[in-house]
Amino acid sequence: MSTIFSKIVAGEIPCYKVAEDEKHFAFLDINPVAPGHTLVISKREVDYIFDLSDSEYLELQLFAKRVAEAMKQALPCKRVGVAVMGLEVPHVHIHLIPINEEADMNFFKEKAALSSDEMTQIASKIGQNLLHSEIF
Ligand code: 5GP
Repeated sequence: MSTIFSKIVAGEIPCYKVAEDEKHFAFLDINPVAPGHTLVISKREVDYIFDLSDSEYLELQLFAKRVAEAMKQALPCKRVGVAVMGLEVPHVHIHLIPINEEADMNFFKEKAALSSDEMTQIASKIGQNLLHSEIF
């Protein structure tokens, strides 16, 4: 059975795509904690991040690093915060969130309300900054 994230990778469910390579995919979280909140996933369906092989884990983190660097260029923020939970969707994903203070990492606060146009623009802006990265 395919996870919702595998369906996104396959194009069966739409998303605001940020980047992809052979093994990884990045797209905007549909319910963003902050504008630019991005999910980085492994294309291989694994539920728990620490069940990835060592090499898969390192490659995923390296991909996430490149996306975070592009986010920092594309969006005004002090840092890109990182979180891994996976309690809702059983498919490895890393949350990357543009933050200016600790409270910006609060997953319980009201989510950012962004139009479809705004989401498209943010995804495209991050993607453009990735074009200059060595792995894309
Ligand atoms: P977690 O599994 O780490 O607790 O959270 C899953 C995250 O995936 C949530 O932030 C949620 O908003 C996001 N999410 C769930 N379903 C979809 C979807 O269909 N599309 C997108 N873009 N994000 C989703």
